[in-house]
Amino acid sequence: MITRRDFLNGAALTVAAGATLSPWDMLAMETSALSPKGLPKGYYPPALTGMRGSHKGSFEVAHALAWNGQKPKKYAPLEETYDLVIVGGGMSGLAAAYLYRQQAGANKKILILENHDDFGGHAKRNEFDVGGRMLLGVGGSVNLETISFTDTTERVLGEIGVDLERLDAAREPGYLLSNLDAKSGYFLNGEQYGQNKIVHGDWEDAWRGGAQCRELVGALGLPADQQQRLIALAEGEKDLLDDLSLTETMRYAESTPYDEFLRSRAGLDPATIMLFDPYHKIYMGFGPDCASTAESFLLGYPGMRSVGMTGKLGNSLWGMAKEYIRFPLFPDGNASIARMMVRNLIPGIAPGSSMEDVIDAPFDYSQLDRAGSPVRLRLNSTVVNVENADESVEVSYVQNGKAYKVSAKKSILACYNGLIPHLCPELPEAQKENLKYGVKIPLVMTNVLLRSGASVNASGPAQYHCPGSFYSVVTKAPPVNLGNYVQSGQGSEPLVLWMSHAPAPPRSGQENSRDLYRLGRHRLYRMPFAEYEEGVKKQLTAMFGANGFDAERDIAAITVNRWSHGYTYGYTQLFDPEWEEGQAPHELGRKPLGRISIANADAEGGASLQAAIEAAARAVRELG
Ligand SMILES: Cc1cc2nc3c(=O)[nH]c(=O)nc-3n(C[C@H](O)[C@H](O)[C@H](O)COP(=O)(O)OP(=O)(O)OC[C@H]3O[C@@H](n4cnc5c(N)ncnc54)[C@H](O)[C@@H]3O)c2cc1C
Repeated sequence: MITRRDFLNGAALTVAAGATLSPWDMLAMETSALSPKGLPKGYYPPALTGMRGSHKGSFEVAHALAWNGQKPKKYAPLEETYDLVIVGGGMSGLAAAYLYRQQAGANKKILILENHDDFGGHAKRNEFDVGGRMLLGVGGSVNLETISFTDTTERVLGEIGVDLERLDAAREPGYLLSNLDAKSGYFLNGEQYGQNKIVHGDWEDAWRGGAQCRELVGALGLPADQQQRLIALAEGEKDLLDDLSLTETMRYAESTPYDEFLRSRAGLDPATIMLFDPYHKIYMGFGPDCASTAESFLLGYPGMRSVGMTGKLGNSLWGMAKEYIRFPLFPDGNASIARMMVRNLIPGIAPGSSMEDVIDAPFDYSQLDRAGSPVRLRLNSTVVNVENADESVEVSYVQNGKAYKVSAKKSILACYNGLIPHLCPELPEAQKENLKYGVKIPLVMTNVLLRSGASVNASGPAQYHCPGSFYSVVTKAPPVNLGNYVQSGQGSEPLVLWMSHAPAPPRSGQENSRDLYRLGRHRLYRMPFAEYEEGVKKQLTAMFGANGFDAERDIAAITVNRWSHGYTYGYTQLFDPEWEEGQAPHELGRKPLGRISIANADAEGGASLQAAIEAAARAVRELG
């Protein structure tokens, strides 16, 4: 039974890491003069199933701090001094270590403290073992947005061994998470649409009013008037904003929620509007009620052709551009980049040097935190205080229920903006407010290992938009063949399915996106693993049951990656002002404080690898 076994697997690791105590126990405990414990033999978190992401043991100490202002009363001072202590072992923290060594010298002593049981932050690897064969899934950060890469990002990736062209060539074309023009299926569930139904085709083209529009929309089985209105909207049968001037049209598109446009101008009803939930949820963490009409058009949803000549032109340009936009990716998403970075910082952890050999290189986690190594990465360690002293920075953290303090010449906070005011009480109040402005977007990415992909494959290509279902996008794990790694899932081979869920509720009144994200985050913490599992079983049965899917027989493992603090907050047209250059909250919030600098993707205001690396580069420069 998956629930039990996977849960126990997860629990076994937390016990091994010693992190099962409640924060209240932890904070009440006497501090110890002993050094922090090393990791037990065989410690290898990527292979854990059950609840991952914000897993048990990773968040309790930070919540006690943020919600109740609780910190340990005493800390054991460690006989360790560093040139730099980095808070957070995600992409930004790892990049900060890498760039600091380039700036200050490879002999500098660096400690990275990370509260999770694994490094990489959102760049999370999910690994499955199927009779000795390793299959990979993406637990968080998926692909490389090469079109918006900065010079520093390209340079750093190149230096650690990422060859973007070779990587792009390693993937199967037409994959939903790396091509804007991928063909896909729409799954309509019986509860919302009367019957379970799948319609495959070029939906991106259909929504832009292309050749398949009538056929695909027709096959959805919507009420006749809705079908006809939807086709008219996508094809641009008439200008729905013909009462507005060009300037008014632009203003309308930027200030009107997409659902309102669809309802009041296109005459669509709620079930039809729900068709446009999936990409809103996966990219923005909310539905079409919180995105502006212009933002929804940019997601590829219909209507551009129905808003005047400018819209028609925009629709055509978008159609041309999408063919050239590609997002290369690794079989485990950006986790491979984190692994390459860690291998570069701590060479003893894994053999090899290329992006091909990192995929199946054995990682020996006992090497992460070795005395004598210039770079040490300490897991299961939640930082609770960072403050400037006379000639140093004092960094305090809790690991295994014990509180420690280390001293460094400098520190970089590469955790997330919302927590920083709690870690650094000495920050000016106005800066704290700016850091707290954005709310990270809650998301869940679940990987499901199927013993056989037969019933899924019999239903058509495994990539789906699922309006009204718990998981709004479902697709196979990245079909990438790299090094020794060969994708699985053809015919009746084992198949890893990737399923994404956004927990933020729809608006019920005057809430803004940040309110909804907070509600979504609390929902995630309340939801036990069994509910996610139930959601998987129910949805996959509805999708593939007609082709023989049997949840009890076919599901071998489930890994739920719960990202309560997920994407960096994105300013929206509906809920945020247009900040003047340099005046946005993330820009004002990231000012260094004495010997402390602020990295992490939030500090650049972008949910991306390049934002994480740029933030690291700036923070390192600030240290001088
Ligand atoms: C589900 C998901 C999918 C994504 N997909 C993509 C994608 O496809 N492409 C892309 O470019 N970007 C993607 N992103 C954005 C992603 O956030 C960035 O690419 C990047 O990984 C952020 O790195 P970071 O180091 O700034 O933050 P994080 O990855 O969050 O790392 C920060 C680390 O600091 C740790 N930390 C926090 N507080 C403390 C503390 N007190 N003590 C110790 N450690 C602490 C955190 O636990 C975390 O491990 C995705 C994000 C999510 C959540």
